[in-house]
Amino acid sequence: MQTTKDSWWKTFPTLILAAAAANYRVDISDTSLLRFCGFSCSIFTSQGTLTPLHARLPSRGGIRLGQSNEEYEVKLRSDWSRQGATRGCNATHVSMIVRYVQFLKELHAHLNTSFSQQTLQALVARKAVHNSECLQWQMSLDDFKEMDDSFNIFKCIHQVVNDEEAVYKLTYDVIHEFAEDNVKYLELRSTPKDIPSTGMTRDLYVRTMLRAVHDCHLENVDIMVYILLSIDRRNSVEIAQLTVDLAEKFYKETGVVVGLDFSGHPGIGNAADFIPVFKSAKEKGLKISCHLAELAMYEETLAVLRQSPPDRIGHGTFLHRYDPGQGYEEIEDTVISKRIPIEACMTSNLKTNTVSKYSEHHFDFWFRKRHPVILCTDGKGVYKTSLSGEYIHAARTFSFSKQDLWQLTLGSIDHIFAPDTIKTLLHNKWQLACP
Ligand SMILES: [Zn+2]
Repeated sequence: MQTTKDSWWKTFPTLILAAAAANYRVDISDTSLLRFCGFSCSIFTSQGTLTPLHARLPSRGGIRLGQSNEEYEVKLRSDWSRQGATRGCNATHVSMIVRYVQFLKELHAHLNTSFSQQTLQALVARKAVHNSECLQWQMSLDDFKEMDDSFNIFKCIHQVVNDEEAVYKLTYDVIHEFAEDNVKYLELRSTPKDIPSTGMTRDLYVRTMLRAVHDCHLENVDIMVYILLSIDRRNSVEIAQLTVDLAEKFYKETGVVVGLDFSGHPGIGNAADFIPVFKSAKEKGLKISCHLAELAMYEETLAVLRQSPPDRIGHGTFLHRYDPGQGYEEIEDTVISKRIPIEACMTSNLKTNTVSKYSEHHFDFWFRKRHPVILCTDGKGVYKTSLSGEYIHAARTFSFSKQDLWQLTLGSIDHIFAPDTIKTLLHNKWQLACP
């Protein structure tokens, strides 16, 4: 059975036309994009055998539609007409979305939760030689339903990524994977760790990430990468200040570390305790993205916004969901008046059960106000998503127009932490790349 390029055209003119026009690379080893668009895929070998999609594909890569592929033949079966009738997504809409998800900026990605399955398997296999318990950690990935479960998974991953080689491989692979998802600008965040048993120090941790960034740059991987050092709110204020000092050192030394992230389990500790640390970071010229209002914790949210408002807010799920008359209107008012951008991680919020469905995600509330909001993945590995997938979820759920997609993808450039020269560069690249 030979499926040719011609037959693809006949069967799927809309997708192929859009792909050819935009030279958009569809990675069929990750079917999420096609699935979100309402397509399903089957692979036929040259012998005519139907093969499970995941079994025969290259470990990384895929195909570029419009080019022949000698080894694999791909048959896409379109369900969009049926789904489109019920979900408000027609062929034109699908092709428009596909064309706009090719110049993405990822501003909220945690290194340790952004692994691919291939990378995780390799990292687990390394550790399993000495500790067979590791094999069970991988299985627990499919078994979480709320926020506490995801933080338990994070603990397991931290045990796999606890030495120099693992940090390097994870960083290197994650950068390549984002580049393959058409992400052109990435801010990757991680908590520098001291792990005496493996010789890891906070300083070495950051240097190792930087080495991977540098190596990807030498390979001409088509993505700009910057690093944020994370402050884990479960740790002490003293450790947080150490992290700020480390960020300042690498900011001055490399320019690749551009700021800080404040994160960790939102139910542990009090963000207000870290306000002096946030102020110290700002005095040093560092940017701050702060996980805030991930849960309904209005007192700490108000304290941070009053005394040291961050440059961006991670999640912000409950910024506007206060009970009237309690004095928390100031939270929403401050976010709006200071135009603090919000990093929206839709799938992450659904999987950790802080939002019940896509249509109820607070992205819509802020976006319709024309407040700066940026779609992000949070952890593409743990939450089994991709940045292009997040755009497609949002586009389909909220019925984006062409102008909405334009505003969303272009507007995110203004909120990156890299210097203004990079913003200008990205603006110019986007003008050239725009359909
Ligand atoms: Zn996060």
